[in-house]
Amino acid sequence: MVILLDGKTTSQKIEEKLKEVIKLNNLKIKLSIILVGNNSASEIYVKLKQKKCLAVGIECNIIKYTYDINQDELLNKINLLNKDNSNTGILIQLPLPNHIDTRLILDSVNINKDADGLNSKNLTNILLNNENIVPATPKGVIKLLEEYNINMEGKNVCIIGFSDVVGKPLSIMCLNRGATVTTCHIKTKNLKKHTLNADIIMTATGVPNLIKKDMIKKKAIIVDIGISKINEKVVGDVDFENVKENCSYITPVPGGVGPMTIISLIENLIKLKKIN
Ligand code: NAD
Repeated sequence: MVILLDGKTTSQKIEEKLKEVIKLNNLKIKLSIILVGNNSASEIYVKLKQKKCLAVGIECNIIKYTYDINQDELLNKINLLNKDNSNTGILIQLPLPNHIDTRLILDSVNINKDADGLNSKNLTNILLNNENIVPATPKGVIKLLEEYNINMEGKNVCIIGFSDVVGKPLSIMCLNRGATVTTCHIKTKNLKKHTLNADIIMTATGVPNLIKKDMIKKKAIIVDIGISKINEKVVGDVDFENVKENCSYITPVPGGVGPMTIISLIENLIKLKKIN
């Protein structure tokens, strides 16, 4: 029988605990989210993050800019937010427009306010097995597996996708936990050869139905991070209905990694409040 890795219930459990921590310690936390342009997916994600902040007692301010904002204007705003003591965390909603240097912007966020853990220093810390503020999605994936007592030590883990935000930090975090990691991507030849060898597959591509039943070994554990839409229906990277017959654990989409990502952001903010 396949077991669903239920991110919705798990995140609700964590949410209750975090709410208590905020209330008992009377923590005054404020998140500032910078949103550039009118990417509809980004607008939805930002609203979800704001909703969760408010639900746990965190103030959340969305600062919107039009697509044509120039880089210096953005840097100036981040500088002001860095200096503003009432502000606990800053989150830059990605993607940014092409005329803006994303790395420069992410690195302009003070490391003590880096809510999403995407500053180079925080990413480097992962490489050094000194995980502190880590990107919310990889953090959420690890937390979900921990909740189900899935230990990855000595396991073959195949990660598909190597973005700076998801695939790369997740690959290193799995290495830090003793897994043997294979990171695949768009240039990988014969993806199936790698996925068939994996005890745990974590996929983050945004390509619907990329992972099919014949690509996984029996009893594999599947973590589907991808989010896409087919005819207004939200789907992941995995051909869920067929793959679920062959695996031992699987995340649903929606209701898997998504809610874990948002609650991990809240955890990061509480950590930052303790540093600030
Ligand atoms: P990205 O576009 O930066 O990276 C996609 C990766 O997929 C790339 O490394 C690319 O090489 C790889 N890829 C694309 N097509 C492939 C193929 N056919 N075979 C193998 N590899 C392929 O995206 P990202 O920011 O890393 O996000 C990835 C997915 O995860 C997206 O669908 C995004 O919406 C989703 N996401 C979900 C959450 C969540 O909370 N669930 C959070 C962040 C991102």
